[in-house]
Amino acid sequence: MAFTWLPQVRGEILHRSPKSIHLAWFALSFLGVHAVCLMLFRSRATLVTYPFLILAPSFAFAATCWRARAVERQSRTPWILLAAGLFLWTCGIGLSAWEDLFQQMPVGIAWFSDFCFFLYGVPILLAVSSVSSRQRIPLFVWMDGIQAVLTAYLAYITIFTVVPFSDTALKPISASVLLLTYNVENVVLAMAATLRLRLLPREKDRGFYKLLCGYLWIYAIVAGVYNSWAASSDGHAVIDVIVDVPFLLLGVACMMRSPQESEADLDEEKPPLAVVIENGSPIFYTLALLALSIPLMREHFYVGTVGIVTALVVHTIRTAALQSRLVRTQHELRDARDRLEKIALTDALTNAANRRCFDQTLALEWNRAARNQLPLGLLLIDIDHFKKLNDRYGHPTGDKCLVAVASALQAALPRSGDLLARYGGEEFAAILPATDEDGARLVAAKMLAAVSSMHIRNETSLGDFVTVSIGIAVFGSAGTGSVHQIVEAADRALYCAKERGRNRIESIGQRDFQGTGSV
Ligand code: GH3
Ligand code: MG
Ligand code: MG
Repeated sequence: MAFTWLPQVRGEILHRSPKSIHLAWFALSFLGVHAVCLMLFRSRATLVTYPFLILAPSFAFAATCWRARAVERQSRTPWILLAAGLFLWTCGIGLSAWEDLFQQMPVGIAWFSDFCFFLYGVPILLAVSSVSSRQRIPLFVWMDGIQAVLTAYLAYITIFTVVPFSDTALKPISASVLLLTYNVENVVLAMAATLRLRLLPREKDRGFYKLLCGYLWIYAIVAGVYNSWAASSDGHAVIDVIVDVPFLLLGVACMMRSPQESEADLDEEKPPLAVVIENGSPIFYTLALLALSIPLMREHFYVGTVGIVTALVVHTIRTAALQSRLVRTQHELRDARDRLEKIALTDALTNAANRRCFDQTLALEWNRAARNQLPLGLLLIDIDHFKKLNDRYGHPTGDKCLVAVASALQAALPRSGDLLARYGGEEFAAILPATDEDGARLVAAKMLAAVSSMHIRNETSLGDFVTVSIGIAVFGSAGTGSVHQIVEAADRALYCAKERGRNRIESIGQRDFQGTGSV
């Protein structure tokens, strides 16, 4: 699992792309030259080994920077964090060279180099714990960064019992504590990266986490072996070569793989543990900061206070930001739901209400009319000889005619409670709550006139322009019939209007409908 990227590197070498072969030769030559130099200049091993120990992480740093520039913007953060970690390590080994060669530091002293080596894990842990690129909030990345640096600073003071860069920085530390500290740090980083890789198997930045995971495990093993050797020996030897290995492998792997090779960010549901870890890791820094600051207050009052205040401020800002984000998301969801609801109830061509909206509204108004003992009017409006218009001028012109007729009909409706709907094809329906027969006739007459006055061409036996026929049904007290009866009545009235020559209004009142059904 941890070394899943190694077969890929091997595969690419076997496929012998010139770039892979050059990179592989570079890495092998680097190791060979380092080993040969150490064997040849055994007495000056310290002087000889440091340039190689500095160059190897510098190469890995440069390769990760190159990848960070090459990948798409939203996937850049973890690469930048890895590059920052490698930069700190390179600074650490540079300072170590300075301490060894020029300061002649006694063994067992924690100084600047150790501070850098210790801090190296901070950006890497941040990269491991950062949320996936889709949900990343830049402010939170910065806040986590500040918390993580401060946590590492306080952890350093707690473990090494010195305040870095202060006058009391020089203090002997037992080799076994140093060894244990670094080994724990390295294994925790490697395990955290593995957990991340296993829990979020389909995220977009998976390629990065595979690479990071492989590198961290190799680094943990190499560092464990090297540190235990270094703790029991004095000076440098050929074994120094193994320190180059993780950095060279990381650098080569970074440069071999195509930056475009990012996996699709599938929207599948994450396991609950993944959600808890992903969202809980920032709180871990806050808790760690508090846990380290409180005991430190006794000896280092100001350092402890800064830690506590930072933890509280970060927690407050995070909570406030998340809360406002939640409110914003709820608003957006509500807007989206309203928009969807509107789309579901609107006719796409004419923007009038659709059939579903008509059915719902009619049922509602029918019940309301029954409750309040008020009349309810229904108009069915049908465009005359519409088929001829379609046949002569084409369907697009027919569509334009439907849109124009709908807006003319809408303009003729006097009250806000009235509803115009596209009933189907070239038929419209208007629901007129609390409207008696005279009122409904008035509205229908306005509609007839509005459509005629638009002068939409349609040469028929009725004349040169588009006309409509309207059937009216008015129920004096809706409670005595059923909602289907009013539709049937309006339909029969419309049929009569067609029968009697079109471009006219016919109506059926409740009395007529319940009797013989004549108009
Ligand atoms: P009548 O006067 O008896 O109502 O005759 P008509 O031609 O209007 O009625 P008919 O039912 O014979 O034809 C209706 C036509 O409406 C047929 C169909 O192609 C057309 N139509 C239905 N929906 C649409 C639409 O969305 N766009 C267009 N352009 N035409 C439509
Ligand atoms: Mg029709
Ligand atoms: Mg028609």
